[in-house]
Amino acid sequence: MDSARRTVRPWLMLFVVAGAIFALAGFVFFLPLAFDEPRAALPPATRAATPEEAQVALADAATALRARDRAAYRDALPASGRAARRSLGELFRHLSPLPWTRLALLGTPVPGVPGRFDVRAVGQLGSTGPRDRVGGERILDLQMLGSRVVATGDATPPAVRREYLMAFHDPVAVGRNGLLVLSDRRARDRAEALADAGVAARARLALVGVEPDASVLVSVYSSMEDLKASLGGGPQEDRMRFFSNAGPRVAPRPWRIRDIGVLGPSLDGTGAWMPMMLSHEMTHAYTWQWFTKTAHAPTFLLEGLATAVEGGRDWAPLREEVATGNQLWPLLDAMAAKDLWAGNSNEQVRLAYLEASSVVLYVLDRWGLAELRPFVTAVADSDLTEEGVDMATREALDVNWDEFYAGWKKYVLSLP
Ligand SMILES: [Zn+2]
Repeated sequence: MDSARRTVRPWLMLFVVAGAIFALAGFVFFLPLAFDEPRAALPPATRAATPEEAQVALADAATALRARDRAAYRDALPASGRAARRSLGELFRHLSPLPWTRLALLGTPVPGVPGRFDVRAVGQLGSTGPRDRVGGERILDLQMLGSRVVATGDATPPAVRREYLMAFHDPVAVGRNGLLVLSDRRARDRAEALADAGVAARARLALVGVEPDASVLVSVYSSMEDLKASLGGGPQEDRMRFFSNAGPRVAPRPWRIRDIGVLGPSLDGTGAWMPMMLSHEMTHAYTWQWFTKTAHAPTFLLEGLATAVEGGRDWAPLREEVATGNQLWPLLDAMAAKDLWAGNSNEQVRLAYLEASSVVLYVLDRWGLAELRPFVTAVADSDLTEEGVDMATREALDVNWDEFYAGWKKYVLSLP
C-alpha cells in the first residue's frame, strides 16, 4: 500500500502541472479567438421588447389576422415555445373567421414585468356595435430575438382564455334584418333562424316607439359552458337563457345599443315564440339607453317595456292578483324592486313581468306612445318612493298616483 502511494504521487503531480499548462495555454490561445469571432455567428441576444417594438409587430399581425392569412400572421409575430404558439394560434382560429371591418391588436405593458403585454383584439364587426369592441385577450411575453419580436410565453389567466368572442369554437356570422348573428358552424341553422326572425321582431318594436337605426349583435352559444366562458365566468343566474348585456369595449362607457346573448339549445322547438323572444331582448338592447341618465334603471320598467313588446302572455294570473287586492306583489313595491329575480319563485317573477308589461300597455292605451318614454324615465329618475312616483306620474301624465293606480287596476281587469 505504502509503496503504491509513493509511485502514484509523482504521476499525479505531473498531470496537475501539465493540466495547468494546457489550461493556461488554452486561455491565452482561445481568448483572442473568441473576441475575433464575427458577431453574426453568435446566437442572437434576447431582451424584452419595448412597447413601440411590440406595437409594430402586433399591428402587422392584426392586418394578417383580418386578411385571414395565417402565414403572414406567423411571420408578423412568430412564437417560440408551445404555450405562446398555442395562444397565438387560438387568437387566429377564433377571431379570423369573424367579419371585422377594422381590427387592431392593442398591447398594454404589464407593470413590473418587462416584455409582458396585455394584448387585446379590438375592432368593429361589420357595421354593428362600437369600433372598440374587445374580441379576445392574451397576456403575452414579447422578446426581441435579433431584430424580430417573438412571443416567448403566455400568462393568460384561464378565465380570460375563452372570454368575449373567443367562446365560439368555429364561428360563422349571419347578417341580415338588422341583426349580426354569431354562432358555431355546427349551429348555423339556429343563427339563420334567428336572423330570419329579425323581420317580425323588429316590427314589434314599434309598439314602444323604437325604430332601430343600427344593427344589434346576437351571440348564439352552443352550451351554458360557452356562454359563461364568453362572459368571463358569469352569469351567476343559471336561469339565464336569453339576455342582453353591454358589449365589452375599450372605452369605459357602454355602447348605446346592448348585445344579445342566447343559449342555443334553448331555441330548439320554440317555433312561433322565437321572434317574440327576440323582440323582448331587442327591446332591452335598444331601450337601455333611455335610462343611462336617470337616477335608477328599475328592472320593473326595463322588463315592462320588453314584455309588452314580446306580447302573447296569459293575463289570468295578473287579473286574479288585482281582483284579490294586489297583495302578493303590490305595484309600487314591484316598481321599486332592485331585482325581480333574487329570492323569488318563477311564479312571482312571472307575475311581476305581467304587472310591468300591463303598466306599459296601460300608459299606451290611455295616454299614447308620446307619453311612454317621458313616463318611464320620470319614474326612473324619482326616488321610487310613493311620493316620488306620485310626483313623476303628475309630471309626465298629469294625474296623481292614486288615480293612476285605480285606472291601472280597472285596465288589468279588462285584459283578455
Ligand atoms: Zn327581459
